[in-house]
Amino acid sequence: MERACFLLESIQSAFRSDDLPKPAQPAQPTTSARANAAMLGVALGDALGATLEFMTPSEIRHQFGLHHEIIGGGWLHLKPGQITDDTGMMLALSDAILQNNGQVIPLACAKAFDGWMRNRPVDIGNTVRRGIVHFRLSGQTAVQPSVEAAGNGALMRCLPVILATFGADETETMAAWQAQAHVTHNNALSDLSGALFMQLIHAALAGASKRQLLNEVAHPFAKAHPEFTFRPKRRDYPSGYVIDTVQAVLQAFFDTDSFDECLVEVVNRGGDSDTTGAIAGMLAGAHYGLGAIPARWLKQLDPHIRERCTSEGEKLLPRSQLQ
Ligand SMILES: [Mg+2]
Repeated sequence: MERACFLLESIQSAFRSDDLPKPAQPAQPTTSARANAAMLGVALGDALGATLEFMTPSEIRHQFGLHHEIIGGGWLHLKPGQITDDTGMMLALSDAILQNNGQVIPLACAKAFDGWMRNRPVDIGNTVRRGIVHFRLSGQTAVQPSVEAAGNGALMRCLPVILATFGADETETMAAWQAQAHVTHNNALSDLSGALFMQLIHAALAGASKRQLLNEVAHPFAKAHPEFTFRPKRRDYPSGYVIDTVQAVLQAFFDTDSFDECLVEVVNRGGDSDTTGAIAGMLAGAHYGLGAIPARWLKQLDPHIRERCTSEGEKLLPRSQLQ
């Protein structure tokens, strides 16, 4: 009996109220997991959205109801899980950075894009093609500034540069952006879109809440650069013009509550839906992390692409920033 009382006291003292296990908090994704999820987000958004490229929202509703599975098809007649230029160029840029110990070197970026084009990608934008041909003919790694180059082609592939400059100051960050962007797109609006997504994704990698991303990054940026205002008018059928793209992506990201809702929302707006999907995917991936990505989408994605994206994001992060 005495022994039983002693045991009871021991048990009670072991579980005093302040020692009780706390209710489990959902674990915050690590920076590495956010980086890998952002890479996967580009590929998944690209593969999901490519089915709908150039369609209007009403054509999509008529044909699919709500499009939410990675099934291929579209005007490029893709296999299920196949990716397009957005992911292809992102991975070429990733190679160029990893082969140079994390440095973003203009010549390495230009050569990587050139090599990607030589491998006969399934599609290629006109501005991208012109820029790469300019590099082949002149050896120059930047095209002349042009108002025509306000497309989304530099933004869609930029994630490896954003990851490689995590923790760097603004001067270094924008020099790295220009090293990759100006090979094909030398345009003030394109550069501004890069500055905005550098800020958004760096903050997301650091664990910023969605409210912080909205009130401390997106709204102040739009106030300073009114072209990037994304409220209140809904952006449907976004074109390849970078402002249209950014408006559709920010609306979809801030008006939904999960990785898959965000991607489904943006691609069902049609237009340049593989690229809006890819850009929304990088932002949503960085914010929600790997655990938020639907398993069925990962299964549907091209296995080679899935393998690269699942590990390459964290390799691009500077060692000093790894958790
Ligand atoms: Mg594409």
